[in-house]
Amino acid sequence: MDRAIVLMYHNIGRPPKGARLPGLYVSPEAFHLQMRYLRVAGFTIVPLDGILDFISGQSHVKRPVALTFDDGFQDFSDNAWPVLRALGFPVTVFVVAGRVGGENLWDCEYLNVRKKLLDWDAIVRFKDEGVSFAAHTMTHPSLTSLSGEALRGEIFGSKSALEERLGMGVDYFCYPYGDYNEETIDMVKAAGYKAAFTTRKGCVFKADNPYELKRISVKSTTGPLAFAYKLHLYKGGSARCPK
Ligand SMILES: [Zn+2]
Repeated sequence: MDRAIVLMYHNIGRPPKGARLPGLYVSPEAFHLQMRYLRVAGFTIVPLDGILDFISGQSHVKRPVALTFDDGFQDFSDNAWPVLRALGFPVTVFVVAGRVGGENLWDCEYLNVRKKLLDWDAIVRFKDEGVSFAAHTMTHPSLTSLSGEALRGEIFGSKSALEERLGMGVDYFCYPYGDYNEETIDMVKAAGYKAAFTTRKGCVFKADNPYELKRISVKSTTGPLAFAYKLHLYKGGSARCPK
C-alpha cells in the first residue's frame, strides 16, 4: 500500500438547531456504518504510532487507517467509543487541556452552540479502556497569532498537563484550526512531540514531514459513496478544509 489515511472527526451526534457548521456532526448511524465499512473493506485501523511506522517504512500493514477526534467532545462517550471499542479499533482524541470538563469557549459564539467537553474522570477512564489522548493546546488559539512564552505555554503546557493526568507520555499534537508556521513546528519539536496533525486534506505518504501530516475529514455530508471514495481513491490536494 502506497499511502496511509488519518480520518478526522469532530462531533458524533445531531447538530442542535441554529448551530453553524452542522457539517461537523456525523450522525451515530452514519458513524457506525463507516466503522463497519472500514472493517469489511479490509482496512487496518492503526494507532498514530502506526502512521509514523508507515512514514518511515517500518510497517507493511494492509491499508493503514488511523482515527482521530478533535477537541474531546462529550458525545465521544456515548456515540463513538462504544462502537470503536466493540470493533477493537484504536483511536486518538485530541483534547484542549485547559478546557477539559468545560465547553468550547474558543468558538461557541461563532458556532452559536455550546458543546460539552469530556472531563478528566472520563478521560482517565477511557485511557484505561484503551483510548489514546493527545494534545490540542491549552485554550485552542490560532497558534500563528502567538509567539514566545504564549506559544510555549500552549504547546508545552498541554503536553505536561495531559501527561500528569494520564500518567504516561503524550507524543502527538494537533494544530487548532490547522494553523501553523515554522515557529510553531519548531516549538512542537522542542516540546518533544513525535508528530503533529493539520487540517490539510490528503493522504499520508512515505517520507512525509511528520509535523505537517494531512488528514481526511468526515462530515455530515459524507455519504457512504463519498466515504468509500475518500478511502479508496482520494489523493488530496492543497486546499484547506474548514475547521
Ligand atoms: Zn480543534
